Amino acid sequence: MAVNKIVLFYGFAPLADPEAVRLWQRALAERWELTGRVIVAAHGINATLGGTVENLKQYVRTTRSYAPFAGVDVKWSDGTGRDFPRLSVKVRPELVSFGDPGAVRVDDGGVVGGGARLTPDELDALVAERGDDVVLFDGRNAFEAAIGRFRGAVVPDVATTRDFVAELDSGRYDDLKSRPVVTYCTGGVRCEVLSSLMVERGFSEVYQLDGGIVRYGEQRGDAGLWDGSLYVFDERRHVEFGDATVPLGRCATCAAPTALYENCGDPSCSTLTLCCDDCVGAHRAAQCEACSAVRPGAELRDTRSWARV
Ligand SMILES: [Zn+2]
Ligand SMILES: [Zn+2]
Repeated sequence: MAVNKIVLFYGFAPLADPEAVRLWQRALAERWELTGRVIVAAHGINATLGGTVENLKQYVRTTRSYAPFAGVDVKWSDGTGRDFPRLSVKVRPELVSFGDPGAVRVDDGGVVGGGARLTPDELDALVAERGDDVVLFDGRNAFEAAIGRFRGAVVPDVATTRDFVAELDSGRYDDLKSRPVVTYCTGGVRCEVLSSLMVERGFSEVYQLDGGIVRYGEQRGDAGLWDGSLYVFDERRHVEFGDATVPLGRCATCAAPTALYENCGDPSCSTLTLCCDDCVGAHRAAQCEACSAVRPGAELRDTRSWARV
């Protein structure tokens, strides 16, 4: 039987013709029957793809044969073969939407002026050496952090990545500017940009967790500085790194521990709500509070759809 996997990778490199790269990536992914999402920008590539392990290896080998992507760090995890509903390959102004494509400078070495990279070992060593002075800074949306985060992390109150620039400029984190700050996100791509934005704004000692939470969890399981689950933007929806994970999320209806986000039952609404296994049926059969106020009695979705942000 085919073994299914998911690959996650990104590469910051100047691309002269993103549209040509998009066409090539689409043809390649179709040829190897992959599903998932690839974003191409003038600054590089960001991809999450699922398929059989053999097909993914062929895809990765060919992708790396293109010089700007030769060094991409590919993270592998287990898949089911139906983790993504379709294949989407798009050109976008930014690899991750901070809302300001001009804010990032990229050369052949990647993002210019980002935070120093820490491996999981180096992160643990930094925390062991400098203790509570080290600030772990969550580079994701607040709802992702609600089901899993580094112990004691600062979790900015952002609904989308676009909110980060205003959040940093609000002055709310200015007292962290003289402390060691380690940014982290799912696979590292958001921190490439976020850490450079922090350096630019005068944070004096900025690091980024290389390979993100995915790599840290792979190496530490439940034993490290990470608590709870990792939110993922595909049909798995959340990932645990061991058998002893204690859920951090609470069901919005009954407060039972959970790591599961459910879409609102109304297909035109993108609100995600934490929901336990017992409450999920009732949740799917109803609108959230906000949309029942605006569109009472709207027709509800019949199957759960891919949670998007
Ligand atoms: Zn519940
Ligand atoms: Zn709703």
